[in-house]
Amino acid sequence: MSKFSKVVLKKGKEESILRFHPWIFSGAIDRIEGSVEEGDVVVVHTSDDRFIAIGHSAIGSIAVRIFSFRDVDTDLAFWCGKFQSAFNLRQKIGLTTRKETNVFRLVHGEGDGMPGLIVDFYNGTAVLQAHSVGMWLIRELLAEAMKIVLGDLLKAVYDKSSKTLPFKAAIDPADGYLYGGHTTREVMEDGSRFLVDWEEGQKTGFFVDQRENRKLLSDYSFGKDVLNMFCYTGGFSFSAMRGGANLVHSVDSSARAIELTNENVELNFPGDTRHEAFTADAFDFMKDINGKYDLIILDPPAFAKHKNVLNQALQGYKKLNSRAFQQIRPGGVLFTFSCSQVVTKTNFREAVFSAAAISGRNVRILHQLSQPGDHPINIYHPEGEYLKGLVLYVE
Ligand code: SAH
Repeated sequence: MSKFSKVVLKKGKEESILRFHPWIFSGAIDRIEGSVEEGDVVVVHTSDDRFIAIGHSAIGSIAVRIFSFRDVDTDLAFWCGKFQSAFNLRQKIGLTTRKETNVFRLVHGEGDGMPGLIVDFYNGTAVLQAHSVGMWLIRELLAEAMKIVLGDLLKAVYDKSSKTLPFKAAIDPADGYLYGGHTTREVMEDGSRFLVDWEEGQKTGFFVDQRENRKLLSDYSFGKDVLNMFCYTGGFSFSAMRGGANLVHSVDSSARAIELTNENVELNFPGDTRHEAFTADAFDFMKDINGKYDLIILDPPAFAKHKNVLNQALQGYKKLNSRAFQQIRPGGVLFTFSCSQVVTKTNFREAVFSAAAISGRNVRILHQLSQPGDHPINIYHPEGEYLKGLVLYVE
């Protein structure tokens, strides 16, 4: 008999699990045999008492996050296998050996069969963010597994889960190093140098997911006047500067983000006067930019974190994009994104479509962008496709 408590599903509720979907909703559960605390490992059985999965329990509508569809020992060797698989994938993409890039996502939750866990690798430091109590409780074990799998590549593991754990959980997480200590803050993406602040910065410190899209932006930048809206640490701004932009304006409502952007610009382009950064609200800044820019990047934070605010979020995307369509110079190019998981590709496209229609301009789609391979989408978990982007030519 398993040492873990047992979650028994209602009849017929095993269907999605048989198709390897990694979530069990609370409504699918018939009963729990044994006592279960949030974050405990549980085994899941069908209504006729067959083993079907093993995962972490949680309070909330997602009651179990599955990490194995086989009855396994959840020991160090098991987690080493998980990290090895994640690492092998990044190796396949060529991210682990590139001289000019030493920042990548090592673990992307469900995309890597580890629901509730995000790990970004920053030039030797792995920054871990647990989104589930189950992953947080085993953080020491996870750090140990990473040490074994990454070997000399790994200098430190930093746990930054205090803001991502469910706020109702009865735990008191404090961020800090699980292994090693502070080494360097400097990382490199495609030859651009960035100072990353994983201790205080947003998310794990840097938006790794825009790497390929930043590279594409470079190709569109030569001789252009560029507005990088929601710039955070300035990623798209450097790509534009590297691509030969004539002028780059970076805007963010966070003064700290603007400070980081200026610091990073100075690091990469010392004394370059093409760049200027502004602390401002996007909607205010875009009230009056008529005819000022040829290339505009809109990469806002997730406007919708829950399904019930979806409509409001879509209105936000519509308003923001219509300001860009109305004011971008003729022949301009707009890079526009949504990183809200609940906003589907179709939702987003419709919002951008409405915004274009309001402007009455001739708009063509040049590229449809998504997240890079180190943010893989588990084919059985389409919800994992969160980053959507469109590159549009506005005549
Ligand atoms: N493009 C960035 C990531 C953007 S994250 C990159 O490539 O790294 C979203 C950013 O939007 C955050 O830095 C946040 O501070 C900023 N932000 C949030 N609301 C804003 C608003 N109303 N106006 C301007 N910036 C805002």
